[in-house]
Amino acid sequence: MDIDILELSERKARFILSDVSVSFANALRRSILAEVPVMAIDEINIYDNTSVLFDEQLSLRMGLIPLKADTKNFTLPEECTCEGKGCPTCQVSMTLSAEGPKVVYSGDIVSSDPGVCPADATIPIVELKEKHKVVLEAIAKLGTYRKHAKWQVGTVSGYKNVPILTFKECDLCGECVKVCPRNILKPGKNKVMVEESDKIECSLCKLCEEACEMDAISVDYDPEAFVMVFETSGAMTAAELAVEAANSIKGRAQKMGEILDTL
Ligand code: SF4
Ligand code: SF4
Ligand SMILES: [Zn+2]
Repeated sequence: MDIDILELSERKARFILSDVSVSFANALRRSILAEVPVMAIDEINIYDNTSVLFDEQLSLRMGLIPLKADTKNFTLPEECTCEGKGCPTCQVSMTLSAEGPKVVYSGDIVSSDPGVCPADATIPIVELKEKHKVVLEAIAKLGTYRKHAKWQVGTVSGYKNVPILTFKECDLCGECVKVCPRNILKPGKNKVMVEESDKIECSLCKLCEEACEMDAISVDYDPEAFVMVFETSGAMTAAELAVEAANSIKGRAQKMGEILDTL
């Protein structure tokens, strides 16, 4: 397996994954979307709510706020020694107390653990008018997207095969250049060409192939190389998510090996 990073920022990664099967690329895509545990608010005790939102709407909004945390310090409630009753290993308490007039933002949430906090401080929760109040305690727990979308850390994850474009000599009519939606084809000396750095931008739509009456273009792809892209909710960085997603696949493969060994 080979990895060539094309783009890596706090919340987005784009890379070429080569010498792997399509099944592995798809397993990684799915793992990024659904298998990596993160913290999210799962329980709310509302002490006062005179805002325009029902308790349920307020709770739903709180649950969908991405929370940053070092997840290695926590255990999934169902795997915790407290058997899910709630302890410092599997949950964190947060409070929110605000009085209008003001817009309440995610940054107003106060966490009992400084290592667990909203990934963004500017997510609006509710607008409070004069004398409106919200006082509540929120309990954050680890979970995965398999249980609920609020635990989804990989918000976008997809891949395509690495395109292989070949051009033969032609009369340079320019039809393929006109139809290419990615605008990557250029007339060369005696045939059409594409810059090396633009090749991976090809969407494999084959419109150029169809437009060419001289059969001078061939659009193919590498079955064992993929351009992968994913984004995170902010609950962890793109680099952390890639490592955690790969570890999740490894962990499940190990478990399967152990089960097979007992047969
Ligand atoms: S490759 Fe075909 S469509 Fe494109 S410029 Fe040449 S002849 Fe025209
Ligand atoms: S396959 Fe589509 S995107 Fe790729 S070069 Fe041809 S027209 Fe452009
Ligand atoms: Zn516990």
